[in-house]
Order: sequence, then structure tokens, then C-alpha cells
Amino acid sequence: MRIFKGIAASEGMVKGKALVFRRASMAAERRHILADGVSRELKTLEKALDEARHTIEAHDQSQLPDESQQILEAHLLMLSDPEYRRAIEAYIRTNLVSAQWAIEEVSEQYASLLAESGDALLQERADDIRDISLYLLEAAKGRKRSVDFVIDDDVVLVADSLMPSDLFALDKSRILALVLDGGARASHVAILVRAFNIPAVIATGRASRSVNDGDEVIVDGIWGEVYVRADLSAAQMLDERYARWQEHESELREMIDLPTEMVDGHRVELLANIQGLVEMEGVCASGASGIGLFRSEFLFMERATLPTEEEQYQAYKAVLEKMAPKAVTIRTLDIGGDKVVKDLGIDEKNPVLGWRAVRFCLSRKDIFTTQLRALLRASVHGKLKIMFPMISGVEELNAALHLLEHVKEECRIEGIAFDEKLEVGTMIEVPSAALCADILAKRVDFFSIGTNDLIQYTIAVDRGNEKIAYLYQPFHPAVLRSIKMIVDMAHKEGIEVSLCGEMGSDPLCSVLLAGLGVDALSMGVQSLLQVRQILRSVSSVEAKELADQALSMDSYQTINTYIREWMHDRFDHLTTI
Ligand code: PEP
Ligand code: MG
Repeated sequence: MRIFKGIAASEGMVKGKALVFRRASMAAERRHILADGVSRELKTLEKALDEARHTIEAHDQSQLPDESQQILEAHLLMLSDPEYRRAIEAYIRTNLVSAQWAIEEVSEQYASLLAESGDALLQERADDIRDISLYLLEAAKGRKRSVDFVIDDDVVLVADSLMPSDLFALDKSRILALVLDGGARASHVAILVRAFNIPAVIATGRASRSVNDGDEVIVDGIWGEVYVRADLSAAQMLDERYARWQEHESELREMIDLPTEMVDGHRVELLANIQGLVEMEGVCASGASGIGLFRSEFLFMERATLPTEEEQYQAYKAVLEKMAPKAVTIRTLDIGGDKVVKDLGIDEKNPVLGWRAVRFCLSRKDIFTTQLRALLRASVHGKLKIMFPMISGVEELNAALHLLEHVKEECRIEGIAFDEKLEVGTMIEVPSAALCADILAKRVDFFSIGTNDLIQYTIAVDRGNEKIAYLYQPFHPAVLRSIKMIVDMAHKEGIEVSLCGEMGSDPLCSVLLAGLGVDALSMGVQSLLQVRQILRSVSSVEAKELADQALSMDSYQTINTYIREWMHDRFDHLTTI
């Protein structure tokens, strides 16, 4: 039996047979070379060894359990082992093959010898050698490939990494659960698996390197654990855990029709985040009082061509009709970053800071106008709110508002009916927008704080990169101060603020966010009732005291400890806190 601990990215517990996808190993290039190509391949090997060492050294070891630290240390030792290196060099020279081929071949020879030794300890070293060869291959090939296989059985997908587009390419009805070596809670892959209700554990470090196809795996997406070939006592313990979780879930279901009213009557609206129409059934059954974020870009990502105005209109209309009279906030196209739409020519060195979201739309007015027309047409079928993503300042906001007015005017001329009173808001997810919140608040009807990106840009930490995940801290004083400032400025201008980043769905953050004055939390519906239960059992005065206390502290570590202890004292039944 082996156990991997990671981040519980999507709730649920599932048992199934593993299907392993390793992006790195699949791309090993087997190429013959001429004698004068040897020195180039030796250089590639040297570079790969250096890079692999840097990759391992970049893991923040203080954040890892002892066992993982020892493994990383063993890997570093092996990467510096002159004998291993000489064997690969010799393989390149003797067989005249590419560095990748030699790395794979020599590592496999070493690993097989150890695996067949019959000694449990040496067998584990075999895993380490394979592990290292994957690091080396990844470093040697430079680029990563995307998935290119079909799943034709129900499986637990165990992968080193996945992109949102990979998930779209796969048959999700076949994926019982997902286990990833890397990833972070706020990455779009994690957001999507929650939306698809696929239990998931991510950031396991090395599961894909140790699990084999066909292994029986139990994925516990509540505690963030993965059991491979679980023994009887572990399986029994997991059964009990599952029963307790089910009990807690049925207790939560009693909250569906209750308002999210704090002990002293203060209300916080709980709204749903969705990516597409398939989630509507779940939303209607969730007790959400509206949709706070419809990520419209996923309509564009599921297909090979751009959706037409009519197709978009039908999709928006369907959501609005299903939710009416509750409001639906549809965010205009937010592509770029890790959300790639084929054939739009977005291929950038630094995509997260690049041509994305409203920046893309303002320079592709054809695409933007089509979407705005579809939205306006759909607005008569329910209560629509439109929201712009990635606004960085007043010029961008003005340009987007101006275009919307222009499209409205065209509709009026053409006699197309739309809701003249529809509210328009902006996401606040770029630090410059946060700092200018007072200016922006004068121009819109509402704000929605996108903490996923706000944290990413405020702390300058890639939200999907597990190597620096320890820096991605929702409790960073800068993040809390930003939220407080945005809320205060918005309220001063008389507009409401919702928060639609993953922080809003984290039960640990619920009381704090209410205390910071956020009016609504929008989240994947998986955690909605848990958040409701928490907020219904505290008062807004207590929440404000908690927030004030947190704001007075000077490091995320202190704030984290303080919030965790406070929440633990109150909610000792919360397993995932
Ligand atoms: C955010 O940035 O917090 C957000 C809600 O948008 P997305 O996760 O789609 O970037
Ligand atoms: Mg965002």
C-alpha cells in the first residue's frame, strides 16, 4: 500500500483502476545521431541535469512532509552521481543516439536491476531512478505535450499535470476521480474538476511516477489523500470516513432553502460560479440565490470554431430562464492565460500578463460585439448582469462601457428588445484596479473581486505553479487590505461587492470575508451549504472583530494560524479545515 497526501481539490471519495498519464515520459524522443552530433547531445544532457537539479531545489522543502523531503534529497544525490551521468554519456557515444533516448534507456536499466533485487528498500530506489529520469526528460525536451489518448473505461486518472484544454479533450464521464502531481486549488483545472463534480486530489508531488496502470486506487477528495492498493484496515478506515462525510452532507442538505442570515440578521448572499450549461441542474438544487459568475469563455473552449451570436444567445437565454427571477452575472470572454481558445492566435511568452480577457476583446471588437449583442438579446429572458474581466484601469473600463452603449444603440435602431436597466459591473482582480476602486466604482453598478487573479498579481505568484504554491496566500496582509479597501470604496459609492474567486468557496475564509464587508460570495456549489452553515452560526459583529484582528497582523503565517484556531474552536466538526 502507498499513500499520497495532497490538496483536496474536489470533494468525494472514489475507488477505481488507475490510468496513468505522464506528459514527460510520453514525449521521450528516440533519435539516431551522427558522430559529430555527440557533443550537442552531451551538452543537452548537462543542461538537463542542471535544470532538473534546479527544479528539485526550487521545491520549498519546509512545506513538505519529512518523507517527501528525504525523497527530494535522494533525488538530488542521484542527479549528482558521476557514475549515473557517465553511463548516460557512454550510451550516447556508443549507440549514437539522442540524450533523451540515452536517459530513458540507462535509467530503465538501473531501475530494473533494483526492482528485481527482491529488497524492499532497493525497490523503492527503482522508483526514484524512474522519477529522476522523468525530471531529466522533461528538462531535456523543454516543451510539454498535451494529452492525446482516448479513455474507454471508467478510470481514476493519475497525471503529472493537465491543462484545462486537456480536460475538454477527454471523456469526463469516464473519469471517476483525478490525481495530479502538481496543480493548485485556484488553477482552472481544479476549478473545472469541481464544476464537473470529479473528486480530485492535486499536488501529490509524485503519484504519477509511482502508480501503474490498473492499480487499484482510492481517492479521498475530502481529506486530500490517495491510497494505492489499500490494505484491509485502511479500506475499513476509509469506509468509516465516507459514512461520516455522507452524514455531514445530509445535515447540510437541510440548509438548502434557508437564507444565509447571520445570528444578528445580517445577510450575505451565496451565489454560484458556473462554466457551462451542464452545471445548471446542480445550481438549481444547491440553494444558491443566483449566479455570481458565469465564465463565458468555456463556451468558446469546448469547440473548434467560435460560437455564433445565435448560439451564444441560446446558451445565455437557457441559463437566464432556468434561474429567473434570480440574477445571473455573465462575465464577458476571459481567454488567455491558461485558457486557450484554438485558432485565435494567442501564443505568448508571458500569457498571464499578456493579451487576455478584456484586452483581447477590445482589440477583437468583432468577437466582443457579437458576444455583447447575444447578451443584450438574452437579457429579456431573466435578470442579467454583465461583468468585464481583467479591467486594469478607467480607460479600459470606459472603452468596454462605450462599446456596450454602442451595441445597445444598434439594438435600439434594429428594434431588438433588451433590458434597458441591466446592471453592468467589473471584476476587480488586478492590483491597479483595486487601488483605483473609488474611481471605477463611480462608473459601474457592482464589483466582483476575483481573488484568484488578485492574489496572483498582488503577490506576483503564478496561481497554477506548484513550485511556488507556498507563496500563494489568500491570508497575505496585502490581499486582506486590498479586499477591505475595495469593499470600503465600493460601499462609499453605494455599490455592492461580491467575491467570486476560490477564496469565497473556502469555508475557512467565510467568516473573515463576511467581516471584511463582502456582500455576496460566489462559488462552485460544492461548498455552498457548508459556507451557509458556518455563516448562520456567527454574528456579523464577531465576524468584523475577526477581520479587524486579522487586519492588524503583519504576516500571512500569523493570520493563518489565528483564523484556523478561531474556526477550529467554533467548528470542530469541519473535517477539511
Ligand atoms: C478570479 O480571478 O478570481 C476569477 C474568479 O476568475 P478566473 O478564476 O476565471 O480567472
Ligand atoms: Mg480572473
